[in-house]
Amino acid sequence: MTGNQELTQRWQGALMDNYGTPRLPLVRGEGARVWDAEGREYLDFVGGIATNALGHAHPAVVAAVSTQIASLGHVSNLFMAEPTVALAERLLTLFGREGRVFFCNSGAEANEAAFKIGRLTGRTHMVATDGGFHGRTMGALALTGQPAKQDPFRPLPGDVTHVPYGDAQALAAAVTEETALVVIEPVQGENGVVVPPAGYLKAARAITAATGALLVLDEVQTGIGRTGTWFEYQAHEGVLPDVVTLAKQLGGGLPLGATVAFGRAAELLRPGHHGTTFGGNPVACAAGLAVLDTIEGEGLLGNVKRQGERLREGIEALNHPLIDYVRGAGLLLGIVLTGPRAPQVQQAAQEAGFLVNAPAPDVVRLMPPLNLRDDEAGALLQALPGILDAANGDGRSGE
Ligand code: PMP
Repeated sequence: MTGNQELTQRWQGALMDNYGTPRLPLVRGEGARVWDAEGREYLDFVGGIATNALGHAHPAVVAAVSTQIASLGHVSNLFMAEPTVALAERLLTLFGREGRVFFCNSGAEANEAAFKIGRLTGRTHMVATDGGFHGRTMGALALTGQPAKQDPFRPLPGDVTHVPYGDAQALAAAVTEETALVVIEPVQGENGVVVPPAGYLKAARAITAATGALLVLDEVQTGIGRTGTWFEYQAHEGVLPDVVTLAKQLGGGLPLGATVAFGRAAELLRPGHHGTTFGGNPVACAAGLAVLDTIEGEGLLGNVKRQGERLREGIEALNHPLIDYVRGAGLLLGIVLTGPRAPQVQQAAQEAGFLVNAPAPDVVRLMPPLNLRDDEAGALLQALPGILDAANGDGRSGE
């Protein structure tokens, strides 16, 4: 039995079957590279589903985590620690607004807190979007707009209306004086990197402002530089959300989520309303600070824009029959295929030493680390024609 097969068998024996069997057991990572249990190297364009802002084992994150855990590992929320305060202050500086932060451990939890903030307005109705993804806990799942994930768990909490994504008229029709919040992803990541029409977020801001509903932007996937600005909404003029939820990249690989609220939304959670034991854990927050420092210090927002454009242009210039076009922003890219071959592309890419994923049957998603290098982007561009040929069933085959 190979090392990969052995780990797979142990996984199947010991872990619940909720993810199915992962396609590859990984044992080590460095930058954009990972190695499997047999020592085979891959370039990681999945980035831990967009969690690895700086790639694997970044020295700044390793140092911050090691130093922090050696001095004060965890304090619970009966007490407080400096890195937690510092990260909250730092995030608010990046937003450029006064507000308050609630720290938690995941994207779903960040959205659960937003759900509760919505309830504390005294209104109960919520509006979310078809195809949207906000997490798997029951509140976050109620906001999610993907029936296959929701149906086994109905009834879901809350009074949630789902409207077509990107349709400002449908949004305006659904939002009433009873609506507590509207939750939107600036780009729908899990749904296949779906970009709304220009002006959609601005319209959502106007619609919610007119009825007194909170505008919650779920930036769990788009935030912390993934799209080339600190937060994707900052690339849209005239959009100031009431609440922004964050996770994934924020912790540089550690579990860390945040619900950031502004104005009256920042004052609604009162003592006793909400909490979680590990929320604001100083080790995770120290990692978060290292991530933000490194993005800033190394000018990575510029790199995201540069590499994102290069990949987009390079992929479209291949003129491959399997490629329709590339959509997305920064280093959150969806290669839209001319047919439902994304799982085959994912498999062919893995065989060629590249990790990508297939959020929809006809979309291949790329979300490499923000510090992706020229040679790494170039390696994918060079390998793609062969990968696409293999996935298309013509040419080199792994079958
Ligand atoms: N919101 C968005 C936009 C996401 O992409 C995800 C994760 N894919 C989540 C929420 C849930 O995050 P987590 O898995 O950390 O709970």
